Amino acid sequence: MHPSPEKRYLLALDQGTTSSRAILFDTLPGENGGGLRIVAAAQKEFTQIYPQAGYVEHDAEEIIGSQTEVMNRALRESGVSAAEIAAIGITNQRETTVVWDKKTGRPIYNAIVWQCRRTAPQCETMIADGCENYVRDNTGLRIDAYFSATKVKWLLDNIPGARERAKNGELLFGTVDTWLIWRLTGGKIHATDYTNASRTMLYNIRTMDWDDNILYELDIPRCMLPQVVPSSHIYGTTRLEGVDIPIASAVGDQQAALFGQACFETGDVKNTYGTGCFLLMNIGKSMRVSEQGMLTTLSAGSRPGKPEYVMEGSVFVGGAIIQWLRDELGLITSAAESEFFATQVPDNGGVVVVPAFTGLGAPHWDMYARGAIFGLTRGAGRNHLVRASLESIAFQSRDVVDAITADTGIPIRTLKVDGGASANNFLMQFQADILGREVVRPSIRETTALGAAYLAGLACGIWESAEQIKGQWTLERRFVPAMEREERTALLHRWHRGVERCRGWQE
Ligand code: ADP
Repeated sequence: MHPSPEKRYLLALDQGTTSSRAILFDTLPGENGGGLRIVAAAQKEFTQIYPQAGYVEHDAEEIIGSQTEVMNRALRESGVSAAEIAAIGITNQRETTVVWDKKTGRPIYNAIVWQCRRTAPQCETMIADGCENYVRDNTGLRIDAYFSATKVKWLLDNIPGARERAKNGELLFGTVDTWLIWRLTGGKIHATDYTNASRTMLYNIRTMDWDDNILYELDIPRCMLPQVVPSSHIYGTTRLEGVDIPIASAVGDQQAALFGQACFETGDVKNTYGTGCFLLMNIGKSMRVSEQGMLTTLSAGSRPGKPEYVMEGSVFVGGAIIQWLRDELGLITSAAESEFFATQVPDNGGVVVVPAFTGLGAPHWDMYARGAIFGLTRGAGRNHLVRASLESIAFQSRDVVDAITADTGIPIRTLKVDGGASANNFLMQFQADILGREVVRPSIRETTALGAAYLAGLACGIWESAEQIKGQWTLERRFVPAMEREERTALLHRWHRGVERCRGWQE
């Protein structure tokens, strides 16, 4: 089906951790049912609330306020009217938890953000209670304060009267997608999608239902949980400029990017190079649990009774090492400048940077590791340090790729890339070299919003199948590995020696 000329636009709402964004796509007629082109984008940052060390909150009203503001601004700036929008798609920061009053629609407390560590003691209790294997085998996650489950429990335990009211059906829980849908539909729809549900640590990704055992352990009443539906789905409608527009997708940000990169086949992988790096592999229809500390979640292609799984690994400090060079060391004035300095020297001069600022994640898992710079000589200078910092992003991503490959037995063919730091050509070439695999960068790097828009377009009939979308992925640049195997092996060996020396530093 071709997009109707009267309703040819798709509006993606990208609700992130630090800002709300709205991106308007035009559907272009074409062989594959039309491709997408960005016609307008608006962004607004919102307040990060840090009530005490390790606590992170957002004002849920500010989230909805900033999201509606950018939605209206994108429309105004593009000159497109609401009547021309076929559908809205939502993508969001995952795990962040909101509980609100069903009648008034008012949150009972700030949203507790994924980064918030307040429930670490509760996680230790769950581990002491022997829940670890059960949680991993049924939710695909490691017990951690990151996920929504213990955040909901904290709210029910700490807000006076909350558990009683939740049991009486007066309170509702939602991740940010659910909260936005509830408010945008005027309190009519309380729903989430498989991808967001799979990050709550309350959802059983084998049976595709909320997990009664975990709900019992945490004393969370089922009646406060949203209905779980596919990512591509008509959730309800929202009124804009007097027109009812369908909300036709909801999807967690990383799975949205995986979809936007058209990673529909088993073994397809994407890596997003943002502040951290998120590497996701589509592992198909059979659930696999990681032995190396990766997470298993549901993909945006999951259908009722037909789960489709993703394995995820993340690097804590990705592009953030470049911010550090800029803001703390003052070695560069902009992130983009790092490419220039890195290419002023033929190699790293023996310098290795291990950015273990907050410990090391998968597959090293050492919370006591701290960052270090190795191999300094009198000849080492800014260029070497900048180069070694960029290389550290690629080395860490390579370690995640190795771990996922070891876990799944699925070899990776090419790596699709996106995110801010994927703009760096030196980094992308080095990534290809150090992986010994091709790295491919798409023309539209807004893959998160793109994924939400594709899923919305599928639900409202602009495209009939993911197959059509696959044909729309277009290459901007391909990076072909050019490094000799011996050099790669030597570099990796030195990197791993650095990693070993960083371990257990924090006493
Ligand atoms: P996030 O969504 O996590 O905020 P973005 O995708 O916007 O991240 O990417 C921002 C990160 O990418 C920053 O950490 C920044 O240092 C890094 N970055 C941006 N451009 C470049 C570049 N050209 N080279 C290296 N790093 C970059």
